[in-house]
Amino acid sequence: MRTTKETIRGPLSGAHAVVTGSAGFIGRHLLDALVARGASVTGVDRRESFDRLRPGQELRCDLVDPDAQGALGDLLASADMVFHLAARPGVRGVGPSIEHDRQRDNVDATRRVLALTPRQVPLVVTSSSSVYGGARLVDGGAIRPSHESDALRPRGGYARSKVEVEQLCAARAEAGGVVAVARPFTVVGEGQRCDMALTRWLHAAVAGEPLTVFGSTDRSRDFTDVAEVAGALVALGMRGEAVVVNVGTGRPHTLEHVVRAIGAGLGRELPLELVPAGDEEPPATRAHTGRCERVCGFVPVTDLASVVRRQLDQVVVAAA
Ligand code: NAD
Repeated sequence: MRTTKETIRGPLSGAHAVVTGSAGFIGRHLLDALVARGASVTGVDRRESFDRLRPGQELRCDLVDPDAQGALGDLLASADMVFHLAARPGVRGVGPSIEHDRQRDNVDATRRVLALTPRQVPLVVTSSSSVYGGARLVDGGAIRPSHESDALRPRGGYARSKVEVEQLCAARAEAGGVVAVARPFTVVGEGQRCDMALTRWLHAAVAGEPLTVFGSTDRSRDFTDVAEVAGALVALGMRGEAVVVNVGTGRPHTLEHVVRAIGAGLGRELPLELVPAGDEEPPATRAHTGRCERVCGFVPVTDLASVVRRQLDQVVVAAA
């Protein structure tokens, strides 16, 4: 299914990109980034991509549904580059079927996309920083950046499923396939998923409720602006190299810093409720950024205060 050519001239003019998970948080920003560079795009998702795609630019299907294989195979075979983002994300997922859902939407869906995408077509797959199991603290409490060559220490079912996804990609790369694996670090920005901490906190703060913090506010995360993550994914697709790349800033912020940024946006102190952190919540994350700089041509810089303001504006408008 080739879509109408976009009129914008750009480095991807004339290229047809397919994005799975196009209705999701990062997927929607990736569509914007591809169109801004002149690509024509087709989204694949079992949900609707709302305002982003016109009729004919979207294949609504479940990636593992056997009935969808024909249309999906035709679409992936027609692509100049493929971005596979569809997944069951979130380290904190619960419920009786969560492990089954992760296997299905993370591992089985990736296996299907790998099988249906021609080997020479550049394919970018989103793994996650969670495969590291957090950054190690070194002497004096400094946070050692996680390097792509570090041993993986997944801490829970989500992270383990992403390790399996990476193993499938590694097998394809060994067989000569062009597959890049991106490991994004805590992605923030407009449309962030409701289960993620910043969105939960913003909703609670606007409603005048306490912010639930897992563990302590000393914990830190390498927060990365979704627009920069989308830019890095596009760069990986254009590069067409079989490589594993961290997508993070290398400059983590404490949760205390985030809470203060929300308080500054609302002009008041925010009550907190501290609850024990599960084992899947590492004390810190931090990307080593050298490979991202070499392969993508830039390192995300992420102005956290500005991202918090942007997300807060969205939450305030939605609550009005
Ligand atoms: P999201 O949940 O917002 O989007 C995922 C999309 O995939 C959803 O629209 C969902 O409907 C679709 N999907 C899931 N399974 C599908 C299936 N079987 N068939 C068709 N569609 C399916 O998630 P997100 O936050 O945008 O994450 C995108 C990717 O980036 C995921 O692979 C996630 O694991 C990874 N990632 C996200 C973050 C983050 O901070 N958001 C961090 C690291 C990695």
